[in-house]
Amino acid sequence: MDVLFRFSFADLPIRGQWVRLQSSLQAAGQFRAYPPQASHLLGQMLASVAMIADNLKFSGAVALQSQGNGALRRSLAECRDHINLRGIMHLTDDTSFPLSYQDIGAWLGAGQLAITLLPDEDTGMQPYQGLVALDQADLARCLEDYFGRSEQLDTRLFFAGGAEYESEVGVTGLLLQRLPNHPGVTDTQRDAAQDAWETLTALAATVTDEELATLDAPVLLHRLFHEYSYTLQPGKALHYRCTCDRERTDNTLMMLGKEDLTALLIERGEITVDCEFCGMRYGYQQADVDRVVDRIDTLKAASEGGLLH
Ligand SMILES: [Zn+2]
Repeated sequence: MDVLFRFSFADLPIRGQWVRLQSSLQAAGQFRAYPPQASHLLGQMLASVAMIADNLKFSGAVALQSQGNGALRRSLAECRDHINLRGIMHLTDDTSFPLSYQDIGAWLGAGQLAITLLPDEDTGMQPYQGLVALDQADLARCLEDYFGRSEQLDTRLFFAGGAEYESEVGVTGLLLQRLPNHPGVTDTQRDAAQDAWETLTALAATVTDEELATLDAPVLLHRLFHEYSYTLQPGKALHYRCTCDRERTDNTLMMLGKEDLTALLIERGEITVDCEFCGMRYGYQQADVDRVVDRIDTLKAASEGGLLH
């Protein structure tokens, strides 16, 4: 089971998360075969959006998206409604992948990595997008840098898994975050919080890849932080779940336009659209295409009538 735990330290403005993804990563690779190092990077991206989404106070989606001219052309890792993950990577056919699977900069070449927050419409909130600078050694360091700059939150992030642990296909992430001090905090409390942060992050940095990849959250946290008092919340199950549906697929086909759509149907007898995230196949026969064409006509009429201006 894919699971996320959050924990917090007693009387300290410090929180943490531990996440392990196995079946989600297998599901993501079910419809597209990724080389192991690419799959692992996708796992890190999915683990990251799961942890970011877990801290959101609103309903919606968090996405980590990249585009570039390196081995990784485009990628998307998304967490919707706090628990539903999906992800995809588009790689070049060139098989010379970066040796370090963690070095996102090397994967992207000249490119960009962005975090997008997409609140659901009924929240009345606006989408937000921030760029993640790629000048750090790996995805974890780039995200630490992003949290520091964009949210003024000191963050430490560790990932393990991947090629060294072939029997355990998956990724485990551990995150520690220093929250702002409470208003009215005394100098002594502030110093104690800072000391604790430095000690806790130093302890976390001693974690080996093997410990992180193989130990369960309660065991690992006890091993690392047993000198401190902390609360581990019950684990939250995460799932690989796509949001594709017939209506969204209709919308995609509408972009082809009436002529091309009709021509395509005549040529093929049936139009099929496969969701690249989950492999779901949507078939369009004559009646379905007629319905899409009707929607195109309705939209066109509305637009000419000035209803959309
Ligand atoms: Zn889908």
